Amino acid sequence: MDLAAPALSCLTPALESAGKPSLVGTTRAGLGQMLASIGVPPSEIRMRTAQLWHWIYYRGANSFDEMANVSKVLRAKLDAQFSLARPEVIAEQISSDGTRKWLIRFAPKDGEAKGADVECVYIPESDRGTLCVSSQVGCTLTCSFCHTGTQNLVRNLTTQEIIAQAVVARDRIGDFPGMKVPEDGLMPTEGSRFVSNIVFMGMGEPLYNFDHVRDAVSVLADGEGLSLSKRRITVSTAGVVPQIPALGSEAGAMLAISLHAVRDDLRDKLVPLNKKYPLRALLDACKTYPGASNARRITFEYVMLKGINDTPAEARELVRLLKGIPAKINLIPFNPWPGAPYECSDWERIERFSDIVFNAGYASPVRTPRGRDILAACGQLKSETEKLRARARLASD
Ligand code: SAH
Repeated sequence: MDLAAPALSCLTPALESAGKPSLVGTTRAGLGQMLASIGVPPSEIRMRTAQLWHWIYYRGANSFDEMANVSKVLRAKLDAQFSLARPEVIAEQISSDGTRKWLIRFAPKDGEAKGADVECVYIPESDRGTLCVSSQVGCTLTCSFCHTGTQNLVRNLTTQEIIAQAVVARDRIGDFPGMKVPEDGLMPTEGSRFVSNIVFMGMGEPLYNFDHVRDAVSVLADGEGLSLSKRRITVSTAGVVPQIPALGSEAGAMLAISLHAVRDDLRDKLVPLNKKYPLRALLDACKTYPGASNARRITFEYVMLKGINDTPAEARELVRLLKGIPAKINLIPFNPWPGAPYECSDWERIERFSDIVFNAGYASPVRTPRGRDILAACGQLKSETEKLRARARLASD
């Protein structure tokens, strides 16, 4: 089994933080508390928070020195106690199609012997750039077709760690004012932003980490900072039904459902969470999703597995099930990974399936697999540390 990834295009050392907590990735409330902790008087907290916010999230500042409108004294105080360090980028890989994958290492949290690694993927198209972020290290769901589910180590990412992925991405592709744009790979040519969309479709189940995801969405969408429209932030879930209403009402993000099957017996196997929250309950939660409308449709993801879920009858059943829900359907060709027990459906099967869905009135784009050559496509993510561990295990067998 060859788990080796293609050559790494570059390695970056960690930003020096000298053990000082970073302000990058904090919420407004968090920044306010940090300012209070170094003696900024309560009457100034709001204004100072707004200044820092602008520098950190609008400009992508890397040092307190840059913060021209913050007094020298305060800059020195900030610098003595805090940093603007980003998590470490251990590796960057660039696919032949321009997709970039970063392996990001977060500093160890309380009690952790070492840092946690996650993968984050940037998918450029001509008119948009989509960043796929992780919400957990690994995943507990064990969906049978997903590589991430085979990773053991699992913990929730903090709000700060989720937001930091977007800051790292914008750093790396020069998406802050005045930053250098990379010459390799591909960049969107239309629109003013390289990261225009964010999807929580990396590692982990976002709705098992709801509070942190909700707070991260509010920072990502803040109009004075990273400024992503909530219509361009999509949270994908395997179907944690009790949290779905809150995702709409509290986070206001777009919803994507990893459906993959139209019958409970099959979905129980592909997405074991279905045993807890079966199709009926899941679709009912979608029918009442706060904010869903024809202009804000729910995305249903359906991975095409050869001989498993890809018949015309299943396509028709899918259409029947989604009746009454403002939906779009995303057909995803299965992306293989080492040792996967499935194959991707034949192309004509996928087309047939797509035609049935399309003729029923749904947009049914077949998602072009992106970044397959660097294992960056849907369901292929698994942190390098785990791969290295597996390789070491193989070597010692
Ligand atoms: N846990 C959340 C977030 C992960 S999203 C969820 O399940 O929605 C990742 C998406 O990629 C999901 O739709 C998942 O079902 C899909 N996926 C996983 N493995 C895949 C594979 N090997 N090929 C294609 N899509 C896959």
